[in-house]
Amino acid sequence: MTAKKMEFKTEVKQLLDLMIHSLYSHKEIFLRELISNASDAIDKAKYESLTDSALMEGTGDWKIKITADKGAGTLTVSDNGIGMTKEETVESLGTIAHSGTKEFLKALQQRDVKDNPELIGQFGVGFYASFMVADRVTVITRRAGEESSRGVRWESTADGSFTVEDTVKEHKGTDVILHLKEDEKKYLEAWEIKNIVRKYSDYIEHPVVMDIEREVDSTIEKGKKVKVTEEETLNSRKAIWLKNKSEITQDEYNEFYRHISHDYGDALKTIHYRAEGTSEFTALIYIPSKAPLNIFYKDFKIGPTLYVKRVQIMDHCEELIPLYLRFLKGVVDSSDLPLNISREILQSNRQVEIIRKSITSKLLDTLSDMKEREYDTYLNFYGEFGKILKEGIHLEFSKKDQISDLLLFPSTKTQKGELTTLQKYVEGMKEGQEEIYYITGISIDEVLSSPYLEAFREKDYEVLIMLDEVDDFIMGNLQYKDKHLKSVTKGDIKLDKADESDRKKAETKYEKILGFIRDCLKDDVKDVRMSSRLKDSVCCMVGEEGDIDAHMERMLKAMGQEVPTHKRVLEINPSHPVVEAMQAIYDKDGKNPILSDYARLLYDQAVLLEGSKLKDPAAFARSIAKLMADNARHI
Ligand code: ADP
Repeated sequence: MTAKKMEFKTEVKQLLDLMIHSLYSHKEIFLRELISNASDAIDKAKYESLTDSALMEGTGDWKIKITADKGAGTLTVSDNGIGMTKEETVESLGTIAHSGTKEFLKALQQRDVKDNPELIGQFGVGFYASFMVADRVTVITRRAGEESSRGVRWESTADGSFTVEDTVKEHKGTDVILHLKEDEKKYLEAWEIKNIVRKYSDYIEHPVVMDIEREVDSTIEKGKKVKVTEEETLNSRKAIWLKNKSEITQDEYNEFYRHISHDYGDALKTIHYRAEGTSEFTALIYIPSKAPLNIFYKDFKIGPTLYVKRVQIMDHCEELIPLYLRFLKGVVDSSDLPLNISREILQSNRQVEIIRKSITSKLLDTLSDMKEREYDTYLNFYGEFGKILKEGIHLEFSKKDQISDLLLFPSTKTQKGELTTLQKYVEGMKEGQEEIYYITGISIDEVLSSPYLEAFREKDYEVLIMLDEVDDFIMGNLQYKDKHLKSVTKGDIKLDKADESDRKKAETKYEKILGFIRDCLKDDVKDVRMSSRLKDSVCCMVGEEGDIDAHMERMLKAMGQEVPTHKRVLEINPSHPVVEAMQAIYDKDGKNPILSDYARLLYDQAVLLEGSKLKDPAAFARSIAKLMADNARHI
């Protein structure tokens, strides 16, 4: 059969173009990527052969071999892992771009890749890194368990296309052959290869071997040297998480973190511990410094890698951590789980549950400690992941108090750039204050000018400012130290008893005009009442306790969700001169058409003040223009 020529997918083409033309430093990482792929392929073969021993093809001697051929100018990375069928080869190495590739390319446009070569691994585009050092790459592969005639030969010069053809391959697995560019021949030197392997792939579980030629004393002729070639293992192979903490440097921890997370920076925190007792396992968990670009995407992969007695079972095991800790990266190696554990069993397994609880507690304790002792580091964490952590309040009742203590907020009393906590808020509560007040919004400045805060400001009450999308939903139901959190835009606000009696008096005094406004706006609002939360503004819109607030409603709508429209309550400031004036007009002539215009204008203002859109902006503009003209006549 002749070779079939095929086009790379567009994104792959762009990626290759970038590899070849834009990346000049740290090219050596191509080897790390190939070794990592080879190691994954062995993990897969090892795992599948647990249930189908034929896949071993007689050998349990798993290894990755590097061969440098100076004569041919080629560097080959071979593994005896799972290999690929023809379809898999075509898909994996050409026609299917990984789901993250588009985002990756976008991210590259925004950052200086030359300074951040680690970005290459971030979205799983590792294989293509080969083209940084090779002008032609040949892959010869055969799926484990298939006949030797079912081998595949893939080749490309990265010119937009690749070829595939059948071939014979005696051993299962994959050979990736790099035809090195003229000025990249240094990668054929044994010492160079050794250095790179030790630097990047030392902890790879499987041996990375190479034939090394050495001069030794001849046993036949005394004083003469002879050359011998021996297969040498280049990596120390010890799974880093199984080493003692004291034997691991922070650099090694970081290097491993970059390997598993595809991050290009260091982790913010490393948590490494061994649990004994009801469950035996080792966890090496990292909190990243930066949220990955795709953390809010649907296909974001959650959970540490699960090993059972050093055999990799699953890349991302969601069951090992709660959803609100989905930013964690790492590995868990259990001694108790069965090797053939399935997804279904994982979900109801007691050991898994114990591990999940243990990691959750450990992580929350670490964060509490970080907040106390390394506040700046904590601020970094909170800025990146605070809004994900917050979901825990809703998702894990038993941890609600501990998570509440980890939350940070700006407030009406914090200085610019500073944040407070619920604990501090409660300590500063006024005599007789029973609730923790908060307001939601999109920015601190916008919130600070809100009319909802007028009475709180006058009476010197602190109000927490919440700017995350999830806040109203999560915080509205929270109770902290017996105190309910209460939105200042919802329900009744009774800051003190005197206010309440003033409000009641005003309701009686302005009973008639209130009744009139209520009648005018009956289709749009639930009720009209006098307010004790306003001091300067004339009116505002207030939600009922338990309703979602206007900010949340707008956001859900923007996300395309169906939101049932809740009618709100219009609150009017009894001490505003407009109320007195309206009452006077009403007393003179209850049918004066200006009254219904005013009622409508009050409603429109309240809608604008809560940040929502008017249903009929043109009518509002007409009314304002008319008012201006009327007013001008009196000047
Ligand atoms: P990633 O490894 O992040 O998925 P790559 O571009 O490096 O991205 O590889 C793409 C895919 O090609 C892999 O997911 C795997 O399915 C396949 N692959 C690459 N190298 C090998 C190999 N040595 N053995 C088997 N499959 C491989």
